[in-house]
Amino acid sequence: MSKLEHNVDLSRYNSFGFAARAENFVRVESLVQLQDAVVLARQNRWPMLVLGGGSNLVLRERVPGLVIQMGIVGRQAQPVGRDEVLVTLGAGEIWHPSLIWMLDQGYYGLENLALIPGTVGAAPMQNIGAYGVELEQGFNSLQALDTETGVLRRFSREECCFGYRDSYFKSAAPGRYIIVDVSFSLSLQPRPVLRYQVLVDELQARGIEQPHPRDLFEVVCDIRRSKLPDPVAVGNAGSFFKNPLISETHYADLQRQYPALVAYPAGKDYKLAAGWLIEQCGWKGHTRGSVGVYARQALVLVNLGTGTASELMLLADEIVQSVEARFGVTLEMEPRLYPA
Ligand code: FAD
Ligand code: NAP
Repeated sequence: MSKLEHNVDLSRYNSFGFAARAENFVRVESLVQLQDAVVLARQNRWPMLVLGGGSNLVLRERVPGLVIQMGIVGRQAQPVGRDEVLVTLGAGEIWHPSLIWMLDQGYYGLENLALIPGTVGAAPMQNIGAYGVELEQGFNSLQALDTETGVLRRFSREECCFGYRDSYFKSAAPGRYIIVDVSFSLSLQPRPVLRYQVLVDELQARGIEQPHPRDLFEVVCDIRRSKLPDPVAVGNAGSFFKNPLISETHYADLQRQYPALVAYPAGKDYKLAAGWLIEQCGWKGHTRGSVGVYARQALVLVNLGTGTASELMLLADEIVQSVEARFGVTLEMEPRLYPA
């Protein structure tokens, strides 16, 4: 059993930098240590929170039960035929350096997901996505520990029920499974995904006509650095709300009223840019006590120093209400509030 600590300050373990305290805390670096931690929590009837990089969490001041910090690492690659490779990464591996490692090995397909903070184990939770690629596109399978039965189970892509910022683990069985490793089917041939115009424009500006995945990686990193606050400097969890999906009729109505509406077709629905809606309601750059809305991207809520989850949730509620009143669209929070 790894070291059990009590009353642990979590401010450096969550990207908002909220001063939360864990009643009990343990870091696990192997499957056996994880199994021991789960048994301990069950014996004590402690609720469990698995913590990766804390970049998609809004932590309240007191976190009861047991916080398990995922530290299982490891990287393996196995060729599959001539063009493919099966890569398996431990859940505690950090996403961005893992992506750099994949690129260095010549394993392609996930480069649009550069610079997303957090761990590999958390990535399937909300099927991380950016710039036209979602995790599921390079996903093969994962192994997760069932905290109810203690059994390690493999999940196929279908069983993960990936959706837009969603998965089986996030919405159907929240908190039940602890992901211990994730396997990816990656290509040995470069196949850049250039669906987002901003990528095309930036590559063009750099005079790159036939981009290598590494070019794409660099461009994504540079755009992100110019738009998003670095959590080390300004506490945040990236996009605070999901981009809402609305029906074609609703879209046509809004488009008539607001010709500048930012929307993209998504199947039979339309996806609205939540950041645009929030900005139209006058929130961009707005501060309220120690929390606020980031001045360069209205979708990002920030902790200005001594903010708390309660303060942030009050601000988030007001934003949701104003967007609802003006556009008839309900914004849904993306990070997990814990305890809920
Ligand atoms: P945590 O915040 O630690 O955990 C998130 C959830 O997953 C929690 O419910 C936790 O209990 C659970 N969890 C964590 N690890 C495990 C595990 N091993 N097994 C089971 N459950 C687990 N997200 C995107 O999708 N796209 C982006 O482009 C993006 N950009 C971001 C930019 C910034 C600046 C920031 C701060 C965040 C961004 N995010 C983005 C959100 C976040 O980085 C991702 O969701 C990331 O995958 C979270 O990883 P984490 O390790 O920090 O998870
Ligand atoms: P942006 O480029 O300002 O675009 C605004 C929104 O329009 C995005 O949210 C994106 O939706 C959508 N969009 C743009 N081009 C599109 C296209 N060709 N097809 C479909 N949808 C399109 O967005 P941004 O805030 O700077 O973020 C850039 C990318 O990084 C986005 O993909 C975003 O999801 C991702 N990101 C995510 C987080 C997070 O925490 N989840 C944080 C930062 C950045 P999508 O969001 O569906 O892609």
